[in-house]
Amino acid sequence: VVPQQVAMLQHRYATALPELALPSVAAAVPDPQVVVLNEPLAVELGLAPDRLRTPDGVGLLTGTVVPEGAMPVAQAYAGHQFGGFTQLGDGRALLMGELVDLDGRLRDLHLKGSGRTPFARGGDGLAVLGPMLREYVVSEAMHALGIPTTRSLAVVATGRAVRREESLPGAVLARVASSHLRVGTVQLARAAGDPDLLRRVVDHAIERHHPDAARDAHPYLAFYRSVVSAQARLIAQWMLVGFVHGVMNTDNMTLSGETIDYGPCAFIDAFDPATVFSSIDQGGRYGYANQPAAGEWNLARLAEALLPLIDEDQDRAIALATEALGAFRAEYDTAWAMGMRVKLGLAGDASTSDELFAPLLDLLRESHVDYTSFWRRLAAAARGDVEPVRGLFVDLAGFDAWLARWRALAPDADAMDRVNPLHIPRNHLVEEALGAATSGDVAPLENLLEAVRSPYQRVVGLERYAEAPPADFGRYRTFCGT
Ligand code: AMP
Ligand code: MG
Ligand code: MG
Repeated sequence: VVPQQVAMLQHRYATALPELALPSVAAAVPDPQVVVLNEPLAVELGLAPDRLRTPDGVGLLTGTVVPEGAMPVAQAYAGHQFGGFTQLGDGRALLMGELVDLDGRLRDLHLKGSGRTPFARGGDGLAVLGPMLREYVVSEAMHALGIPTTRSLAVVATGRAVRREESLPGAVLARVASSHLRVGTVQLARAAGDPDLLRRVVDHAIERHHPDAARDAHPYLAFYRSVVSAQARLIAQWMLVGFVHGVMNTDNMTLSGETIDYGPCAFIDAFDPATVFSSIDQGGRYGYANQPAAGEWNLARLAEALLPLIDEDQDRAIALATEALGAFRAEYDTAWAMGMRVKLGLAGDASTSDELFAPLLDLLRESHVDYTSFWRRLAAAARGDVEPVRGLFVDLAGFDAWLARWRALAPDADAMDRVNPLHIPRNHLVEEALGAATSGDVAPLENLLEAVRSPYQRVVGLERYAEAPPADFGRYRTFCGT
């Protein structure tokens, strides 16, 4: 009897783009312990959860057991980091390979914190348990909210101490994505000055994510339009839910339109467009309100990288790409306005727009209103229970005037409750869960996961998970590269 492998991994990326795939080996894991395993996602991927808990399974989740035929690689890419162009690559990550899921879709299995690679530079190649659990919780919350995102399959504690400012427990995150192709992947191919490589990268991305572009008369321009559109719609969803990515470098922007790289991200509590959480984002480049502009800037860098493919005549290529990028604003604005109407219970009313939205955002900012609580209380007001939402505002006269205008439009309260979450991964709850898990108690983490997987429905016993942070929570800071 031939023992069945835990997973059948393909190596399509490594085969198609060997120049951007450096074979690499995971670091030894002295004492692996599965802290959290996403069983429904495992099943979706055709992996048996029980087998993932065996030594071979845990080996797959940490990269220490390589299934036969697999070819783990570190991916090379470039990126504009806070505006400066750099050659990069997975310094502490491995693409184990691709899996075909139960729906026949190709999904990357990728490990973060799996040891040094040729791209590690001065880094130790390791990751800390707390931040890997943070990515797990936030990415699963995003998925439950219907926002395109990479997924989290497991976090395995390694039993190895990681030296940061203090000594912290190490971990490996097993991440699943429709691919890890980034704007920075195309940028590296362009910077390499190899037209054939550039074409192969983009052909690979078209095949995986934007197959309609292949049938267009101008496939590479169509590909670009398709990425612009996916990112415009994605960023609109971030804005509507109050998500701040925090490090929108071009190496952290996917070609698929999935959210990737949950380092310093966080959700807004009190509404303020100027919100910046990341400790390294001194200038607020990637603050909440700047996200659409940052996305558009990144897409301009993608256009530059694609120019040789768009047209032989570079002047014409620039004109075509500029026109295609011009669609970003319109598509973003449309997606955002539509999303706002849905949040306001006015989905069918295409006439409402800025006269209703802009004054509301001003009121929310002026009164430091908890953004998530606001929408559910507003739905209650549509049912006649107006005091809970009024209680959030300092400028009552201003809010009452806005409320009267909105209520006159006959909003649908039930529709509002279907799109405005009760549960987001609130900063104070994330910190509480990570702190407890780092000390060996995973119960708060499991509760938080249960809450965020039920974004719109109350969970009995978890009422506290729908509440705004305590008044003394203070200013929240997040960190990169931990
Ligand atoms: P990020 O800002 O998270 O996108 O990371 C930027 C780059 O730094 C990526 O290429 C990472 O692989 C690399 N990196 C971050 N932390 C480490 C580490 N501890 N060891 C090696 N490389 C790292
Ligand atoms: Mg990154
Ligand atoms: Mg990162």
